[in-house]
Amino acid sequence: ISNIRRWRRPTPSSTFTASYKADPDPSKINLGVGAYRDNDGKPWVLPVVKKAEQAIVADGSLDHEYLAIDGIKSFTDASVRLILGAASPAVAEKRYAACQTISGTGAVRLGADFLARFKMAPVYISNPTWANHRAIFTDAGFKDIREYKYWNPKTRGLNLDEILATFKAAPNGSILLLHPCAHNPTGVDPSFDQWKMIAQVAREKNHVIFFDCAYQGFASGSLERDAQAVRYFVDSGFEVLIAQSYAKNFGLYNERTGCLSIITRTPQLAQNASSQLCKIVRANYSNPPAFGARIVSLVLNNPQLNAEWEQQLKTMADRIISMRKALFEALTQLGTPGTWNHIVDQIGMFSFTGLTPAQVKVLHDKYHVYMTENGRISMAGLNTSNVRRFAEAVDWVVRN
Ligand code: PMP
Repeated sequence: ISNIRRWRRPTPSSTFTASYKADPDPSKINLGVGAYRDNDGKPWVLPVVKKAEQAIVADGSLDHEYLAIDGIKSFTDASVRLILGAASPAVAEKRYAACQTISGTGAVRLGADFLARFKMAPVYISNPTWANHRAIFTDAGFKDIREYKYWNPKTRGLNLDEILATFKAAPNGSILLLHPCAHNPTGVDPSFDQWKMIAQVAREKNHVIFFDCAYQGFASGSLERDAQAVRYFVDSGFEVLIAQSYAKNFGLYNERTGCLSIITRTPQLAQNASSQLCKIVRANYSNPPAFGARIVSLVLNNPQLNAEWEQQLKTMADRIISMRKALFEALTQLGTPGTWNHIVDQIGMFSFTGLTPAQVKVLHDKYHVYMTENGRISMAGLNTSNVRRFAEAVDWVVRN
């Protein structure tokens, strides 16, 4: 094979972390990582995850036999209940096909592969969005990938008018890829009423809804609140695809634990969809890995462990929310020119600061702040020891 061209890897995590580590400046700040850090800047293994790991290791009956193509059923069933709510009619009526996936990325890919076979249509991704969305749908064979303007730079908030206009103008039956909570990278979510308006247009136009849910519970600290958009669409009769990731809300980043569900109109369609998902997985990686799904299944299906998990999830969400407040207060105290309410209005791991690439460069060169060029910061990189320093750095670049 002589015509192999090199693919230039995108900058994130690994490269980022490497240059951050190599920087000898003691006041350096890493706001590029897409993973939770505690107040000491360290990764956090949830105590409930440790507990579950120990229980799994101690369980002599477990082996390393292959799982089913669609994974562990107690895990996928619990995943559907988690996102839809245990009382959802779709759950009671068994109107879902659920398949264990290689984390959230694998879930989006499996959904894209499924749609490429049964519903080839234009796909709408938000601008901006997680960079992998376009790559996944392209590799799944979609030629017509379009964008909806999500971010309004003037208000540093949601561009609802553009979103609705774009979805209205889209061909009937288009695929809408939506972030149900903690939009990456902006941290801006529609309000519940705005979700209803989006649903209204989607219904009129017969659009197909694909929710990429990577942050349930991690965003607001409430599993219900972060699922409200998904539940609204499903309860109002939409057939939807849902990708779930347990990277953030369980801290299981490298265990690659996720789930793809397709909510259908009838149980028969769900069974058909399930068989097709298995067909795709079978020819791809045959069956998924077990460890992460065993942990999640154990925790979600045990009321005591589940309560501990919800508590620890809230600890992460609350720390991030408190850092938003601390940053906002520091900027306000410094009298930094501009409005900064968006820092506290946004939600989830990321915040779109509105800083320009030139300002980001100065933050890096002068203050050893590591963040992406588009002005996105990971709130998890802030803590009580560095938030003031970061605010002062922002204050300086904004004024100079
Ligand atoms: N979707 C979005 C919007 C994300 O931000 C992420 C995590 N960066 C994912 C999906 C998937 O992550 P993972 O494959 O690690 O579960």
